[in-house]
Amino acid sequence: MSYQVLLFYKYVTISDPEALAQRVRELIATHGLKGRCIIAEEGINATFEGETEATESFVAEFLQDARFKDMKVKRSEGDGKAFGKAYVKVRDEIVGTHFDKKIDPRVRTAPAITPEELKNWYQEEKDFVVIDMRNDYEFQSGHFKGSVNPGLGNSRDLPDALPALEQYKDKKVLTVCTGGIRCEKMSAFLLENGFSDVSQLENGMHGYMEKYPGEDFLGTLYTFDNRLTMDFGGEREIVGRCKLCNEKTETYVNCGDDFCHLHFLVCDACQKPEGAFCSPACEEAVKARGYSHA
Ligand SMILES: [Zn+2]
Ligand SMILES: [Zn+2]
Repeated sequence: MSYQVLLFYKYVTISDPEALAQRVRELIATHGLKGRCIIAEEGINATFEGETEATESFVAEFLQDARFKDMKVKRSEGDGKAFGKAYVKVRDEIVGTHFDKKIDPRVRTAPAITPEELKNWYQEEKDFVVIDMRNDYEFQSGHFKGSVNPGLGNSRDLPDALPALEQYKDKKVLTVCTGGIRCEKMSAFLLENGFSDVSQLENGMHGYMEKYPGEDFLGTLYTFDNRLTMDFGGEREIVGRCKLCNEKTETYVNCGDDFCHLHFLVCDACQKPEGAFCSPACEEAVKARGYSHA
């Protein structure tokens, strides 16, 4: 049995989000898919896993909807366990940025370059800077060579990271994220804040790695499902480092302190029977409470 994980999004006006949510719920039930989907008035953001054939028939049916027929669906190998359940929810935003409403990719966003164009930029050694718009913990296991990490805890933090990014205001900037969705608003936010030359990478790192596995991207690509990282084949060097002892690792855990729950990289040696803690402070806090959640 082979499994496949689908990843797709589109910023497009959905006049009746609840009706679309119901339609998606029916479709994934019919095809036996698990995963998650967020629908808002501004668009759709989804990832589903199922048997490869079932995922393909889902895509064929879903793309019949005129609003989505030009939507790029990204595919990666699954293991049948990427998601424990299925849900489709209606929310205010398809990525939680809490940015001002005027940051609207349907109105204005940065132009996109294709993976082929980025490959050329690398080969020509063009003068540009890649800004990684993912969360800090995602950056740690792998990223484009030479890219800038603004150190975001989540997508709402970009305004706080702006002062540190000011130095790139007049440079050629390329924003990147896993599949492209976060860059739609992140790149628009940079334009809104006076950055003069911003582009975003079409289909994100996922699109690039499908096309050029093992090239220009160091390490492994983090994913928000039970696989934790995606493998596109090709050679790779481990760039992830244990947060506690700096050994090479690609293993993510959640901090054993439920009040912290930070996602971080840890090596086998630093995992304790009572869990792993991202800092001595978190370990102390849990000890003080008597390891109630271990
Ligand atoms: Zn360690
Ligand atoms: Zn912690």
